[in-house]
Amino acid sequence: MARKNTRRTQGQHVESASVSAARALPSVDELARDADLLASAATLGDFPRQVLIQAIRETLAAARAQAVSGMPIPDRIHLIEQITAAVANQSQPSLRRVVNATGVILNTNLGRAPLADAAIQAITSVARGYSNLEYDLADGMRASRMAHIRHWLRMLTGAEDALVVNNNAAAILLTLAALASGRDVIISRGELVEIGGGFRIPDVLRQSGAHLIEVGTTNRTYLRDYAEAITHETAAILLVHPSNFRLVGFTTSPALSELVALAHSHDVPLIHDLGSGAVMPTERWGLAHEPTVQESIAAGADLVCFSGDKLMGGPQAGIIAGAASALAMIEHHPLVRAVRIDKLTLVALEATLRLQAQGSAVHDIPVWSMISMSIAEIEVRAKKWAEEWDAVLRPRGLEATILPGESTVGGGSLPGETLPTVLCGVRPHTAALRLSPSQVTSVTTLAADLRRGQPAIVARLSRDLLLFDPRTVSRDEDGLLLSAIRQALARA
Ligand SMILES: *Cc1c(COP(=O)(O)O)cnc(C)c1O
Repeated sequence: MARKNTRRTQGQHVESASVSAARALPSVDELARDADLLASAATLGDFPRQVLIQAIRETLAAARAQAVSGMPIPDRIHLIEQITAAVANQSQPSLRRVVNATGVILNTNLGRAPLADAAIQAITSVARGYSNLEYDLADGMRASRMAHIRHWLRMLTGAEDALVVNNNAAAILLTLAALASGRDVIISRGELVEIGGGFRIPDVLRQSGAHLIEVGTTNRTYLRDYAEAITHETAAILLVHPSNFRLVGFTTSPALSELVALAHSHDVPLIHDLGSGAVMPTERWGLAHEPTVQESIAAGADLVCFSGDKLMGGPQAGIIAGAASALAMIEHHPLVRAVRIDKLTLVALEATLRLQAQGSAVHDIPVWSMISMSIAEIEVRAKKWAEEWDAVLRPRGLEATILPGESTVGGGSLPGETLPTVLCGVRPHTAALRLSPSQVTSVTTLAADLRRGQPAIVARLSRDLLLFDPRTVSRDEDGLLLSAIRQALARA
């Protein structure tokens, strides 16, 4: 008992000391009138006063929490610095540009496909004013927004017709809701997969009201498994392309053409969720063959669903291409309105489809110029980076060097496939031992500082190496990288 009491007394003692330390902090009002703070914040340009008040409150709350935990509280000069930094952070857009040096071309967390110049110009021209979004300029009548992309999709995929919605998950949801609500959809157990962010395809499918009839096993599903599951309740057979994993070893699945024949012999449509939506032959650049939309249509799939922002290289969108009769059943479903594509996305998609159709994707669509970038060009850039950065890095105990490496397509396409690349690697240099610890910057600190920069730079951290892949950095960002490294080292 006695010991417990003593402890409590000590605790109270510490608490009262910290409470008095916290009391010594200036008030929100005092800081809001502080001439030094106002002068420092004024250098940041215009911002709402509420942002300053909020920054003061948050900084004081953090200082109070520090005091309560017995840590020294920041003095007035430091408080002003912290408040100014918080205002600066609030003053820049939250969703902002990032330089992707990771070498993952379709990086879902970094926004998947960067847009082609033509797509960006198209967005700008339509965003600024009104447009003929749903208006036929020839006869002055109401028209469908699909009129802007239908012909391009027909041309590119060989499909009779097409429809575009918000994203591919919506495309599949809508397709099943329109064709199979309350009825059965047959799917292989090997295709009940999870896409990014913890979302599972079967959960999305069930939201359509369709009953999933799972057939086969994880690694082997035969044509007869599908055939045995078909009843008069069957509304469709669904095939999901394994776009973010690879099943190797003892595996079987029927060919698309066999499944099409089976489905059609029972008067049931075959729906193909193709995911990445390639219309170009990936094998031309040393990658595995990614099934194309054209192949799927030619094999007889009734509806093919894919994303606009994976291998199509356009904006986020879900494209449904296929038989006119099947699309007619979807077109007027109420969900079409709920998952409608917006005009800015639509115009960017139209511009992207045009580039694909005219065969200039490799030059004009960033995803494809990255895939097709020659190793010689990458090496020249990596070498140039290493030379320029090394001089800046050395005084901070770091060095830059080039290393062979691998880029990936990512974003749910071509799992396990890599493209050879040359990386610029930043690592501690051996002579760093002669520097005082305060002069040395660690690669982890550099990585964190680069992420906080403007623009933020995201590189690949691998133990004691910070790796930069020129493949995913656009050529006009080279200079930005050097100045970002300078600034990051200055801040560190
Ligand atoms: C990526 C992917 C999806 C989801 O597409 P979103 O455009 O992200 O909605 C669905 N199915 C497959 C097979 C995919 O690869």
